[in-house]
Amino acid sequence: MALIIKSGDAKAFADWKIHFSEFAPGLDVHFWEDPDVDPASIHYAMVWDPEPGRLAKFPNLKLISSSAAGVDNIMRDPHLPKHLPVVRVTTTDTAQRMGDYVCWAALTAMRRIPEILVAQTTCGWDSSMTGESAPETRVGVMGLGAMGSRAAEMLALLGFQTAGWSGSPKSIPGVESYAGPGVFDAFLARTDILVCLLPLTPDTKAIIRAETIAKLPRGACIVNAGRGGHVVNADLIAALDRGHLKSAVLDVFDPEPLPKDSPFWAHPKVIVTPHIASFGSRRVRARHVANVLAAFERGDPLPGLYDPVRGY
Ligand code: NDP
Repeated sequence: MALIIKSGDAKAFADWKIHFSEFAPGLDVHFWEDPDVDPASIHYAMVWDPEPGRLAKFPNLKLISSSAAGVDNIMRDPHLPKHLPVVRVTTTDTAQRMGDYVCWAALTAMRRIPEILVAQTTCGWDSSMTGESAPETRVGVMGLGAMGSRAAEMLALLGFQTAGWSGSPKSIPGVESYAGPGVFDAFLARTDILVCLLPLTPDTKAIIRAETIAKLPRGACIVNAGRGGHVVNADLIAALDRGHLKSAVLDVFDPEPLPKDSPFWAHPKVIVTPHIASFGSRRVRARHVANVLAAFERGDPLPGLYDPVRGY
C-alpha cells in the first residue's frame, strides 16, 4: 500500500516519513511534489490544502485524510472524487491543546490583558484593570465536537459559567447545552466570551457577523479558533471600535498567513496568534493516520469520518 503526503515542505515530508516508518512500517510513503510517483500506485493521500483537481488524478485512491482537524481545505476542491471516505485528525492531544488555548484566551479576555498590553507600551500603571473572576464570567462555546467539548469541560473546571451550542444536545459536566438554531439567540444573550470551534460549512460561514455580535451583551469578547471564514472581519472591527465588543483573540484568518496590511495586526483590542491553537506533533498525527489506515484495511469504523450529509 502507498500513501502520498502533501503537508509541509520537503523537510516536513522527511519527518513524516520517519514517523510513518515507525507506525506503519509496510507503507510506501511518497512526497506530493515527487515527479517520479506513478499516480496509479497511490492508495491513500494525507493532505493539507491540495491543489483543486489533483486528488482526482489518483485512479486507485481509497481514502483521503486531512493532516489536521479540518477538512474544509479538502472539500473546497470541486473535482474531489465524491465516493472516497475523507477523515480528519482527532486525537486527545489535539483536543487538549485546543482546551489549553481556549482557557488561556478566555482568561486573557476576562483579565483585560489586551488593554494591559497596550498600557505597557506607555508605562501605563492602572491598578483598576483587574478584570472579572471566572465564576462571574459566562463563556459560550460554539461547536461541541472533539475540540469544543474538551475546551468547554476545561473552562467549566476553571470555574467559568460555561455553555455550549451545537447541532445536537450534549451532556458535559458543568456545561449547559444549547442545541440548534432555535436557541442560538438565547445562547448569545448569556455569553460574555464567545468561543468559536465550529467547522467551516455553508451553515456556519460568516456566523460571527454584525447581527450575531449585536446579540451578545455589551462588553463581550470573541475567541475564534475555528476558521477565518466564520468571521466577517469588517463587522468584528466595527463592533470593537464602537465598544460593543471589548476584545478579540483570533487564531484563524482568511486568508492565511494574515496579510501584513490587515487591520487586526495593530488593533489595540485584538490579539493575533498564527493558527497555533492546536497543532499536534507530526509524530502524534502520523500515529493517528497510521491507525486510521489500519482500521480502514480491517473494515472497522473510522474515527473523524467526514459526513457529506452534515457537511462536517
Ligand atoms: P467536530 O466535527 O468534532 O465538531 C463540530 C461541532 O460543531 C459539533 O459539536 C457540531 O454539532 C457543531 N456544529 C457543526 N455545524 C453546526 C451548526 N450549523 N450549528 C450548530 N452546531 C454545529 O469538529 P472538531 O471539534 O474536531 O473541530 C472543529 C473545528 O475546529 C475544525 O473544523 C477546525 O475548523 C477547527 N480547528 C482549529 C484548529 C486550530 O489550530 N485553530 C485546530 C483544530 C481544529 P453536533 O455535535 O451536533 O454534530
